Amino acid sequence: MAVIIDGKKISLQIKDELKEKVEELKKKGIMITLAVIQVGDDPASGVYVRNKKKGCEYIGIRSLSYELSGGISQQELLDLIKELNDKKEVNGILVQLPLPAHIDEDAVIKSIDPAKDVDGFHPQNVGALCIGQPGFVSCTPAGIIQLLKRSGIQIEGKECVVLGRSNIVGKPMSLLLLKENATVTIAHSRTKNLKEVTRRADILIVAVGKRKMITKEYIKEGAVVIDVGINRDENNKLCGDVDFGNVEPLCSAITPVPGGVGPMTIAMLLHNCVETVGLQSL
Ligand code: NAP
Repeated sequence: MAVIIDGKKISLQIKDELKEKVEELKKKGIMITLAVIQVGDDPASGVYVRNKKKGCEYIGIRSLSYELSGGISQQELLDLIKELNDKKEVNGILVQLPLPAHIDEDAVIKSIDPAKDVDGFHPQNVGALCIGQPGFVSCTPAGIIQLLKRSGIQIEGKECVVLGRSNIVGKPMSLLLLKENATVTIAHSRTKNLKEVTRRADILIVAVGKRKMITKEYIKEGAVVIDVGINRDENNKLCGDVDFGNVEPLCSAITPVPGGVGPMTIAMLLHNCVETVGLQSL
């Protein structure tokens, strides 16, 4: 039987640690503020934004909401970001993605002050991660490192396969595993003999966005499997990229969906918000 890695429990530990740090900062007169921008009324984005704001409330940081119409021009959005960049009392800026098609996401991400980019998407922060300098790290992969470490899973020297090479999950994930001294392979839709590649993994991180794609044929016995996917199954229930019931008996540890990686993303966003205090005074 595999260990089921409990992301809810670990994320709560992290949030409680952050709550204490925030208390300490408040005693020194430092109040952290996160500006959350949502464009349009996509229901999934609405849920994510609400959960992020709830997280802020839980650890005691202030969140400012900017709910903008889906018809807003790119320039208007860039103007708002500039205003928030210039506001000293705003520590972090989060723009909920995806944005409507008429807005260039890259231009928006680049317009955020890197010192306030709590999502860790700005090219300067991505570059800093690449060369091992201080900066904000994308929340989902940072959360996975915490899940592994806090579950007592050794990363150093392990064969890690990251399935997926997106800018927000796969690529930063592979850099973080490398930083932890793993041997890292990145696989994607053009990878040949995928099952052979994933079967090499002591630790397999799956971020493909294809429901239940990963079955036991992709897994080495005793592997640790981390499922990043958030999909809906045939009964409209949440499920991952991994066929949990099929794969679990073969693993030494596995994350469920929901309750695995998902809660860690918000915990690490809150971690980054608290980190702004140190980074902004560098
Ligand atoms: P993405 O941008 O769509 O990237 C998917 C990656 O998977 C791409 O690199 C793609 O390869 C690869 N891929 C797709 N089909 C494949 C196949 N059949 N075989 C091998 N590789 C394949 O997705 P993402 O943003 O990284 O997200 C991945 C999943 O994680 C989604 O379900 C998303 O909802 C979820 N997610 C969850 C969280 C969380 O907090 N839990 C956060 C972010 C994302 P190519 O590059 O060759 O196209």
